[in-house]
Amino acid sequence: MKYNTYTGENVLERVVSNNLCVGCGTCAGVLPEVLRMHTDKYGAYLPVLIKETDEDWGRLSLRVCPFADNEDNEDTIAARLFGQQEGVKHRSETGYYLQCFTGHVTDEDARLASTSGGIISWLAGEMLSSGKVDAVACVGQCDDGENLFEYQLIADSTELYKCRKSRYYPVEASRIIREIRKTDSKILFIGLPCFVKAMRLAMKADPVIGDRIAYTIGLFCGHLKSKHYSAYLARCCGVSEREIKTVNFRKKVLGKPANKYAFEVLIRNDGKEEHRQIMMGDIWASSWSNNLFMLDACEYCDDVMAETADVSIGDAWLSEYTKDFRGTSIVVCRNADLLIMLQAGIDRTEIVLEEISVDKVIQSQASGMRQRREGLKYRLYLSAKKGIWRPHKRVAADRRAGNFSYRILQLLRIKTKTLSREAFLKQQPVDGLDIFIHLLRPWILLLRVLNLVRHLAGSLKRKTFNLLKVSIT
Ligand SMILES: Cc1cc2nc3c(=O)[nH]c(=O)nc-3n(C[C@H](O)[C@H](O)[C@H](O)COP(=O)(O)OP(=O)(O)OC[C@H]3O[C@@H](n4cnc5c(N)ncnc54)[C@H](O)[C@@H]3O)c2cc1C
Ligand code: SF4
Ligand code: SF4
Repeated sequence: MKYNTYTGENVLERVVSNNLCVGCGTCAGVLPEVLRMHTDKYGAYLPVLIKETDEDWGRLSLRVCPFADNEDNEDTIAARLFGQQEGVKHRSETGYYLQCFTGHVTDEDARLASTSGGIISWLAGEMLSSGKVDAVACVGQCDDGENLFEYQLIADSTELYKCRKSRYYPVEASRIIREIRKTDSKILFIGLPCFVKAMRLAMKADPVIGDRIAYTIGLFCGHLKSKHYSAYLARCCGVSEREIKTVNFRKKVLGKPANKYAFEVLIRNDGKEEHRQIMMGDIWASSWSNNLFMLDACEYCDDVMAETADVSIGDAWLSEYTKDFRGTSIVVCRNADLLIMLQAGIDRTEIVLEEISVDKVIQSQASGMRQRREGLKYRLYLSAKKGIWRPHKRVAADRRAGNFSYRILQLLRIKTKTLSREAFLKQQPVDGLDIFIHLLRPWILLLRVLNLVRHLAGSLKRKTFNLLKVSIT
């Protein structure tokens, strides 16, 4: 069995045509005369050709693309950046690390306003106020009438703190890359793992960008959603997407565990503003475990913890931390400078951090990790069987990856991902969610039954094993 060997001469032929584009905008950022980002009918960003030039633009586009299969991957980039440090350790799941922590900011309002423990915004604010960087490239609210969120370059702490919260919404970095090239400021870049990888590739390909980016912070990442996801959640609150002013994907709820959060939408109604919210557990079908509205590129990603970032931060999805509704961050630090900065924050009691083992970090992302290791092996096999080109990943295609039920789970998740996209297109002109639910229901039911069987089989296996252990010892 062989992959298709024709790979194309530029990102449009190689990446976009194979549904591998995550819409990061890096190619359009370094080639502003040739490519521009646009939103497709499914609510995802893609580059489009605006003008063909004589220069070899295709090669540069491939050099900066995280999915183009260029000479560097997460391992080689990270080895160059972090591999030579004294005391540095490595695990295939986390990449390099100096130390790992869980923790949060001590300012109660700041913590409540953040996604998990508020460590990303604290660290970015610290870099800005100490002069380590002049501006932060991060994601904030957008009021262009078309998009809810966008990448912004921010040089002011008050504005930076307004950018707290995870945005499960596509954003692209082409505009800020063009701005970064024009300034002589030192920049902190905050992004999802594939965006940080793309920025590292751009830093190598373009010395001006290489000189401007001083630090990177990576978010842990399960997957990214299309723009239709926020419209879907708003409809679950009885609101049309036309009324949305902004949304909060991660509203903390007093008395609930941190992983039982709500979605909140702010709407404009007769000139007045009104909030509506719904607990994520009350949304029809679990959008995260069923991969609803997920971008196709995320199927072929093997970096959960932003292995090329100076520091990576996620949610401490561990029972000892989720019981606190205020949220707790998990931190994987790879840069000695930033370790000193974190320690200074602890000494000034601005943050609380507790060292944890790397095994705990991996445990906190167990299901995402499995989807991007065992699941990816099987998805690579499915592509290879159809002769579709895929970039080399750090796991190989495997027909027997996982067990039988896990492979069925992969097939069903691919189905619900693809169908959610088409079903929402059919639903869009009509209010409500009847069409969407009608089309997806049989597949969601199948997934529920499969998960039930897998759960029962797992607990039966554990009980039998424990019984055997007791009777033998
Ligand atoms: C699409 C997505 C998937 C994620 N998946 C996981 C996961 O599987 N497991 C896990 O543990 N954590 C995941 N996270 C990370 C997690 O949601 C929090 O970002 C993390 O816990 C840090 O919280 P904090 O309180 O320190 O950040 P905050 O202080 O709230 O700051 C958040 C920062 O992230 C930036 N940001 C928000 N959205 C985006 C975006 N789309 N792209 C780039 N930057 C953004 C903001 O501008 C802000 O600077 C995901 C985040 C996103 C956006
Ligand atoms: S993933 Fe990013 S760099 Fe690659 S084609 Fe898409 S927008 Fe361009
Ligand atoms: S899952 Fe991977 S490809 Fe998808 S947004 Fe996250 S880091 Fe990027």
